[in-house]
Amino acid sequence: MRSLFKLLLLLLTSGFGHLMAQKLNKMPENNISVKEVEAHLRFLASNEMQGRRTGEITENIAARYIAEQFRLNGIKPIGENGDFLQTVPLEVTKPSKSGVITAGEDKLEWGKDFITLSGKNLKLENAEVVYVGYGWIDENHNDYKNVDVKGKIVLCQFGIPENNQPFQNITGSAKKIKFAAENGALALIQIYNLNFPFANITRNYGNERLSAKPDFNAEIPHIWVNSNYSKWISDKPLKNISLDVTEVSKKNVNAYNVVGVIEGTDPNLKNEYIVLSAHFDHIGMGKKYGKITESDSVFNGTRDNATGTTALLMAAKALSQQKTKRSILLLGYTGEELGMLGSRYYAEHPLLPLKQCVFNLNSDGAGYNDSTKVTIIGLHRTTAENEIIDGSKVLGLVAIDDPVPEQNLFDRSDNVSLAAKGIPAPNYSPGLTAFDAEIGKFYHQAADNPENVSMSYISRFCKAFIYSARLIANKAETPIWKAGDKYEAASKKLYGQ
Ligand SMILES: [Zn+2]
Repeated sequence: MRSLFKLLLLLLTSGFGHLMAQKLNKMPENNISVKEVEAHLRFLASNEMQGRRTGEITENIAARYIAEQFRLNGIKPIGENGDFLQTVPLEVTKPSKSGVITAGEDKLEWGKDFITLSGKNLKLENAEVVYVGYGWIDENHNDYKNVDVKGKIVLCQFGIPENNQPFQNITGSAKKIKFAAENGALALIQIYNLNFPFANITRNYGNERLSAKPDFNAEIPHIWVNSNYSKWISDKPLKNISLDVTEVSKKNVNAYNVVGVIEGTDPNLKNEYIVLSAHFDHIGMGKKYGKITESDSVFNGTRDNATGTTALLMAAKALSQQKTKRSILLLGYTGEELGMLGSRYYAEHPLLPLKQCVFNLNSDGAGYNDSTKVTIIGLHRTTAENEIIDGSKVLGLVAIDDPVPEQNLFDRSDNVSLAAKGIPAPNYSPGLTAFDAEIGKFYHQAADNPENVSMSYISRFCKAFIYSARLIANKAETPIWKAGDKYEAASKKLYGQ
């Protein structure tokens, strides 16, 4: 009985596989050649591209390359001036690393006890301080209600109310300068309280850095103080302070997302968009970005993420040659390595209504240690799981789920920018079964060169990504989050269910 059942199952499943393979034969992705994949990959990951660091000319060249490949394939541009580019405004901030703050017996040193994130020079003796809790304003919360901070220094605790995500507390804290400035304060001081040492904060935020340009312009000093001074906000908050802080200089820099559309063929379904995305930036070249050798100083980012970018380029070709029922939005992201700057900007400044974007398949990866597999972060979190599993299987690849859920990879790549808005958004990456030595050898290393990947595997990976996307874009039902997912509430808000 049992073996008969097994045999029947085998016949059924192999029959299905056969049928699917036949279908693929007729699809343009089947004609994608290894040479074509290799050419894109070798260009993007070449030494001449100097590691595609955001804000540098070589990263803009990568954006232009993607845009012109889109043009070649007849993709419709939806960027600025009839082109494929969306400007992502960034700024370089550079603190002058000097100044002093005193309060009673406390004398604070720049870098060790405090840093300035932005603002002009300011010198004040015994200025009045107002403690305002979190210093936060949103729909449910206003720490500035009934307090007058005009002409005073605002003191607050770090982070945002009712949130225990360290990263969100850092980005939220960065936003608070707006509230202080709008309420007429002379400066904002936050008492740092996260578990990472303040020295790390100084290293990351106290040096020259490229970040998103805020959409408001506050000139008042923004200061983060080491948790050693948390007594300043305890039962008897500080009343007066003297400070002498120096300017943080600013310079505008533009980076670019690349955006294009393939219109769907079904009169109704074409109003729904499947977003295919990949970041094309990497970390640059030279020893300030990691370990280099005499013969290799470029962080080529072949795996991370010339591979996903190539998958996006091949998707532009295959999906425009034979169109799908739903429309396709192709999105190349800048700035992932510096904090998902491109995808976060796009999520706040979409070029198509987000509620028409029903699904996002992002491609990004750390590398691969198993070329019989593809690893899908969030595989089982949406109702497109079968399309992804089947679309990969036809190319002989087994789709596996996140092998390291404890690392929360889902929320650490560009897919999260649209996921947090409610759009179901798994990440499609090369076969990774664990963060082992094989991954470590190349991940963010100068050794991540195009010569040491299997071009036939990368080519199969690209086809599997595209074929999975095709199945999703032609699926009768619109894919959604599975019930109970942490982004389900955002999804209901976005799509109005
Ligand atoms: Zn990446």
